Amino acid sequence: MKALIKYAPGDGNVEIRDIEEPRCGENQVKIEVAFCGVCVADLHVLLETFRNYPPVILGHEFSGRVVETGNQVTGVATGDAVTVLGATAVTCGQCSYCRSGRFMFCRNRRGMGHGVNGAFTQYVVVRPDQVYRIPEGFALDEAALSEPFAAAVQAVTEITQVRIGDTALISGPGPIGLLCLKLLVAEGVKTIVAGAAGDGARLECARSIGAACVVNIGERSLADAVREETGGMGVDVALECAGHPDSVRGCLEALRPMGRYTQIAICGREIQFPIDNIFYKQLTLSGSICYTARTWERMMKIFAQGRVRLGDIISAKLPLSDWRTAFDLCVEKKALKVLLYPEA
Ligand SMILES: [Zn+2]
Ligand SMILES: [Zn+2]
Repeated sequence: MKALIKYAPGDGNVEIRDIEEPRCGENQVKIEVAFCGVCVADLHVLLETFRNYPPVILGHEFSGRVVETGNQVTGVATGDAVTVLGATAVTCGQCSYCRSGRFMFCRNRRGMGHGVNGAFTQYVVVRPDQVYRIPEGFALDEAALSEPFAAAVQAVTEITQVRIGDTALISGPGPIGLLCLKLLVAEGVKTIVAGAAGDGARLECARSIGAACVVNIGERSLADAVREETGGMGVDVALECAGHPDSVRGCLEALRPMGRYTQIAICGREIQFPIDNIFYKQLTLSGSICYTARTWERMMKIFAQGRVRLGDIISAKLPLSDWRTAFDLCVEKKALKVLLYPEA
């Protein structure tokens, strides 16, 4: 089968190679990949700015159909449409984080697509506990967005605990920002979405998803928009989804006293920001990274209830051989999510 492989350490060193199809073990599930989304993490593996263990197949945001199950496997059957929690591919299972379900902090963790083989290929084998059956009526392409959507579910519902009646600010209209917006709109939360010059198309998407107000900070001051939308009060919650110093500052300034701030994006460098805002307004600052298995269970219920659909976050579906084009679209911010599908 063809696979997109990081074959050696260093910048680049990624290409499509022909490799042997994986065999399904006794307590494993073999899945034929339908779609696998390109994520910033894949770009970082390509550029060697994210830890990886070559040779390794890239890709961790995927959906597919079960084609084989080991004889010890129950609860999953051949033909099932599924998505996979790839981040738990390898964990120690014994540290306090593993024991409390917070596997992402396990020192020995290795996720699919960088730590162990991922899904930019035709077949993967995983443990049954990583597999989630996609609810009836939810499409395989939408389900390929499960991994980033789970990050949004944790950030909005578990970490920030946004409530109906709140006014929210999402700063950064990239895929994660728009997935957070989907949830807030479904919950009936009034949401302002801010973006920078170059985010025009993404802000239009935010508007069509149901943002109460979109602000291009290249054209209009965020502070003015927030004042107008909140009657001068400030927003109750701010989700930083851009990873940019201006966005961090904008969020801290937009919050009302006792407001809640959640960092969801990576800045990738040290930045300056007005820390006194935290003191004078007695703000609560949190970070939200990844999700837990419980988040995935909640996400499947959200999918089943049908009020959140993700199709409009998908900009393009390309064959695996066009991976360069797909990666470039993401680098140039010309697309939201680009999915790759394997060619038989
Ligand atoms: Zn991802
Ligand atoms: Zn552990």
